Amino acid sequence: MSQNVFEMAQRHFHRYAEPLDLPRRYPHMDILSHLTTPDRSIAFRITLQRDDGSLTVCRGYRVQFNDDRGPYKGGLRFHPMVDLAETTALAFWMYLKTAVVDIPFGGAKGGVSIDYASLSLAEKERLTKRFTLILANDIGPEKDIPAPDVNTGEREMAWILDEWRMMTGRYRRGVVTGKPVTMGGSQGRREATGRGVFYTIVEAARDMKLPLAGATAAVQGFGNVGSVSARLLHEAGTRVVAVSNEFGAVTNPGGLDVPGLIAHVAAGNPLTEFPGSEPMGRDDLLTTEADILVPAALENAITAANAPQVKARLVAEAANGPITPDAVDIIADKGTRVIPDILCNAGGVTVSYFEWVQNRQELYWPIDEVNLRLRDVMVGAYRRVAEVAARDKCTLREAAYHIAIERVAEAAARRGVQ
Ligand code: NAD
Repeated sequence: MSQNVFEMAQRHFHRYAEPLDLPRRYPHMDILSHLTTPDRSIAFRITLQRDDGSLTVCRGYRVQFNDDRGPYKGGLRFHPMVDLAETTALAFWMYLKTAVVDIPFGGAKGGVSIDYASLSLAEKERLTKRFTLILANDIGPEKDIPAPDVNTGEREMAWILDEWRMMTGRYRRGVVTGKPVTMGGSQGRREATGRGVFYTIVEAARDMKLPLAGATAAVQGFGNVGSVSARLLHEAGTRVVAVSNEFGAVTNPGGLDVPGLIAHVAAGNPLTEFPGSEPMGRDDLLTTEADILVPAALENAITAANAPQVKARLVAEAANGPITPDAVDIIADKGTRVIPDILCNAGGVTVSYFEWVQNRQELYWPIDEVNLRLRDVMVGAYRRVAEVAARDKCTLREAAYHIAIERVAEAAARRGVQ
């Protein structure tokens, strides 16, 4: 990923922290440095034995950014663009995210820089288990709890649980979240991020007096988060007019058959060959005519170069960091409402928290209970952010940062300075 994504995250942070006057409120501590310096960054070598007997050396990372409000929590990304700066930025956003939705975790992130998709199943398992073995003493249900992110899912979480219990002799399911339901995962976790994105869109659209039924949407990225967001929008009567993945995009101004597209892609077909759609330029999706834009791929999708052409009235940041700092003002100046990432995509970590709670109790909730509780958390967090934004006459992003920063600063100060 881009080398300076953590610098970008820090720039966002300082800008939003400034009006809070934290150095005056917490004069006994260097609070801004505290909040922008990771607690621990672990960078290591992983040597993967390939099926043909050859060895591939790659880099692994786990950044434990802040645990002032609870154990470290954050996903694992296995992708060639992973590096320390990106992992650090994602860990940083993570502790702000857990604070916005007020769940008792801090923030962490991990990853491996490798073309994971090209590995065989056996190679994937070896890599994931090696990663776990190296970090066995650094993770745990009361320490640091990994979860899925790009290219990782239930399968990888099950492998991590298995390896960690072999290493430690402790069968503690809460060491990871996003596990298969048969191994102590929560109902609803797989869909939780996209569902949370949808709940925040419902609230924002209501505030904007934009009826979802009949509105149009474009969704960038058709993985876990993008496909669920698209499906729920489709079910709400929104016409999803364009969808993309890393290989291309498709459009249908009359609305794509989203469930059909999900089945088409799940069957291994190229997204761009979906019957009843026209191919379009992958990145043209971002500036296509649609009321709602859901960037659900990777960072830096909307930059100063394409922001002026964005036509959506509402942008829901399903991905982490999809709008670069220099594009944030361009988008805001157009009057476009943006649901910021640290709020918009917090549904995943919220149901991860529910999973961890269920694992501690070994008592499992039905799907309706999970979704109701998720809705309560997401709607409650959105309403609080919207309230602060209205009170302080600022954007939803500024308001979300203010709420998160204040919560973490307060916890940090109360813990003492040593
Ligand atoms: P995923 O791997 O399931 O899907 C990613 C999708 O993005 C794929 O369809 C991929 O082809 C597509 N993509 C990649 N580059 C693209 C490009 N340049 N243009 C268009 N599409 C592109 O990952 P995911 O879990 O859906 O995560 C997506 C985003 O949401 C990431 O930013 C991730 O950090 C964030 N997120 C995920 C979760 C979660 O629970 N999975 C939680 C919070 C945030």
